[in-house]
Amino acid sequence: AIDVRGLRKSFGALEVLRGIDFSVARGEVVCVIGPSGSGKSTLLRCVNLLEEPSAGRVTVAGTEVTDPEVDIDRVRRRIGMVFQSFHLFPHLTALENLTIAQRRVLHRGRAEAERIARTNLARVGLSGKEAAYPAQLSGGQQQRVAIARALSMDPELMLFDEPTSALDPELVGDVLAVMRALARDGMTMLVVTHEMSFAREVADRVVFMDDGSIVEEGTPEQVVGAPRHERTRTFLARVL
Ligand code: ATP
Ligand code: MG
Repeated sequence: AIDVRGLRKSFGALEVLRGIDFSVARGEVVCVIGPSGSGKSTLLRCVNLLEEPSAGRVTVAGTEVTDPEVDIDRVRRRIGMVFQSFHLFPHLTALENLTIAQRRVLHRGRAEAERIARTNLARVGLSGKEAAYPAQLSGGQQQRVAIARALSMDPELMLFDEPTSALDPELVGDVLAVMRALARDGMTMLVVTHEMSFAREVADRVVFMDDGSIVEEGTPEQVVGAPRHERTRTFLARVL
């Protein structure tokens, strides 16, 4: 579903991604771990062209997104993105947050958009919160609304950038449970996370990045359980 070849990204003189090769197969869950500043968010942002790669090729669901001819809005529509901060519209209810893009981007009618919105709010455990405004919801509930909003667009794959790092510890579990269920349902997921227990349980593969490169990748048992590289060991010793 995602294929990245020779991806480089510089901001001025600073090279942040130094030749990244990796892929995520359909239905696979890949977790990206690594220290702050290693380029994890930039990698995710290059996958949906929120950042323009300096070199290399990125293919998403069979479409080369780095092709200058590509209609990037069409590609982005198929990619769900969930950030650390929830980016909900504060003046819209949970239901309206889920229907607005469906109506404007996918041109669904009100009744259909609302039906899909209710289904997805139920899917993230928020039936009954349709009329709540973001400020009336906990951080964990807001993040689940953000996930439900992404799901309402029928994404082919989901990108998560540290979806639980802004949450109070007691709220993290509910969000991870929703992500676990998504993974079980076969969603293709690329997840930047510091939640090693989630990576261990849910990821098919773990990618460890440091200083703009992939240092090692493999099953969670390999990378988290028995890392081969010193840099991976040092990182894990700090987060585990
Ligand atoms: P964290 O774990 O803290 O989120 P990260 O692995 O996601 O870190 P990135 O956000 O990808 O790291 O940043 C990698 C490097 O690129 C950092 O040195 C950062 O300062 C730099 N960087 C990111 N975005 C920009 C930008 N728009 N302009 C200049 N430098 C940037
Ligand atoms: Mg980041």
